Amino acid sequence: MIVLTTVADMVKARDLAVRPLGLVPTMGYLHEGHLTLARQARQETRTVVASIFVNPTQFGPAEDFASYPRDMERDLTMLRSEGVDIVFAPTVDEMYPKGYSTYVDVEGVTKPLEGARRPGHFQGVATVVAKLFTIVRPDRSYFGQKDGQQVAVVKRMTLDLNLGTEIIVVRTVREPDGLAMSSRNVYLTPAERRAAPVLYLALCRVRELWQQGQRDAEAMRQEMVRLITSEPLAQVDYVSIAAATTLEELAQVNGPAMVSLAVRFGRTHLIDNISLP
Ligand code: AMP
Repeated sequence: MIVLTTVADMVKARDLAVRPLGLVPTMGYLHEGHLTLARQARQETRTVVASIFVNPTQFGPAEDFASYPRDMERDLTMLRSEGVDIVFAPTVDEMYPKGYSTYVDVEGVTKPLEGARRPGHFQGVATVVAKLFTIVRPDRSYFGQKDGQQVAVVKRMTLDLNLGTEIIVVRTVREPDGLAMSSRNVYLTPAERRAAPVLYLALCRVRELWQQGQRDAEAMRQEMVRLITSEPLAQVDYVSIAAATTLEELAQVNGPAMVSLAVRFGRTHLIDNISLP
């Protein structure tokens, strides 16, 4: 496994790489969710590139960019054992040198949910992903369903800008009690950690209602709020039942939908989602 830190070296390596080439973009502090993406890339492509870059442009001024957990040595060990070929780990200055002025704005899907709660977040995501696609030129790019709105944004941008990479979505990897794995779970206190599976419980309850024939989205949103507020440490940011591609809120669930929620435990924001059907 080789570790590259400059754009110039990454461009050289991608030009020499055996195709198809798979890209797994991450912000590091890896867990089993990230490794599942890497494993699938390893199975489906000849050259696997994982990027590790805590992207400052997707963090708001009051967010945790400076304190976001980092452990490069551990990450590299984990990626090596998954058979990753190249790790691209640029510095902030390498990605955003002095004078940097170009940002990608995706309309529509970036506006609700996390976009409303975190202004500028998806502009940062779209910008860094567009840059990674341009630098690495992957045939296939692997993203987790865990960040469901991010998937919708990246798919929209890739289509609109003809970026020419196939977006592969990988199922959410969960702890045994249902909590979606996330680098930010380390922020939870033991009591918050015990309460956190309520997110998945609420999502599973909606799936159950839907399977029983419920189609009224508002009734299902209310049931999610009821379940989450029964957990005293949890504060609901939003619950949503939206059309899968556009993320417009639904009145009736008659086609593909994303059921998602954001819940705060103390200072930690957790998000999760499931797809219907
Ligand atoms: P991050 O490092 O949080 O930016 O995540 C990098 C990639 O891993 C994104 O595509 C995430 O959606 C994906 N990912 C993070 N957590 C999970 C999980 N629990 N299951 C599946 N994919 C995940």
